[in-house]
Amino acid sequence: MNIPEPPPATLRLRIDADALADNWRTLDRLSGQARAGAAVKADGYGLGIDTVMPTLLGAGARQFFVAHWSEVPGVLEHTSGAKIAVLHGVSSAQDAAFARACGVLPVINSLHQARIWHESGGGPCHLMVDSGMNRLGLEPGKLGDPAIGALQVHTLLSHLASADEDSDQNPAQLAIFRQAVSQVSARELSLANSAGIALGADYHFDLTRPGLALYGGVPREELATSIRQVVSVEAAVLQVRDLQAGDLVGYNAIYRAPRPMRVATISIGYADGILRSWGEGGALQHGESTLPIIGRISMDMIIVDCGQSDVREGDFCLLSYDLPQASQISGLSQYELLTNLGQRFDRSG
Ligand SMILES: *Cc1c(COP(=O)(O)O)cnc(C)c1O
Repeated sequence: MNIPEPPPATLRLRIDADALADNWRTLDRLSGQARAGAAVKADGYGLGIDTVMPTLLGAGARQFFVAHWSEVPGVLEHTSGAKIAVLHGVSSAQDAAFARACGVLPVINSLHQARIWHESGGGPCHLMVDSGMNRLGLEPGKLGDPAIGALQVHTLLSHLASADEDSDQNPAQLAIFRQAVSQVSARELSLANSAGIALGADYHFDLTRPGLALYGGVPREELATSIRQVVSVEAAVLQVRDLQAGDLVGYNAIYRAPRPMRVATISIGYADGILRSWGEGGALQHGESTLPIIGRISMDMIIVDCGQSDVREGDFCLLSYDLPQASQISGLSQYELLTNLGQRFDRSG
């Protein structure tokens, strides 16, 4: 069968490409002597890899980070393998063979990964050293191992655990990283994520790795005035109805109308990333009117109190996706707010 194009979706993700490009340039400038790369894992933090890559390349980004090998083909559509680093590294001979076939450099995280890389033929790679997060990366005590000494390390990396806080862990990690730097011969050094960039020049080295702040996240107050919002969410009204006092709303009837009121059912739900926690205090906008979310959020729908608004079926409402504010309201992290965004949005500028 010849399947026709589906009609436009009843939910839209608006992505401000100018703001995204501006954010990259801002973070590159704030990186001082270092260049900024870009973390584009998880489908460009949920925005869509095909949307973010051309904009980031246009702005000047030249080094891209993904987590999984499955994310490489999507990035290769836009740039060469040499500019892509895979943070999870090589866990198998298949991973190493794929890296070679694509010209992508793995980030080696352990002695096991170093051996896999050597057995597949070796050559340039990156090396992640753990500086105190104890998540992913070689323990500093193992830097002297011959398997590490034999690596051709392009970039030596480490990752900050608490850069979004004024924590003693930041200088402690910096000191451990500096120690590692003295033990490894690498062409470039990289430590800072978005928040790390705001910690100052000591943390910048040669290459920074912003992710969150590119997409409008504000992990530290210093970035609040310079980072622009990138994402907005809009969803259509499916139905409007009038309730009597005492009528029950939504799954499990957690809301009871205290008075006669008009409510609207909006085409967005937890399958789109608007998790149930948004229900406690969240609201949509229709023109000047604020429409508080009432009742439980469903998989595909949200019910709102229309108040005095003249909202009609088919109208689009705005869910503010100012990330610091949305994080306050929903209790979700700014990262979760981005990476939970579902697949059903029309993604456009
Ligand atoms: C995700 C990630 C980043 C980007 O971090 P943000 O906090 O989003 O800026 C940088 N480096 C590594 C190793 C990462 O995993």
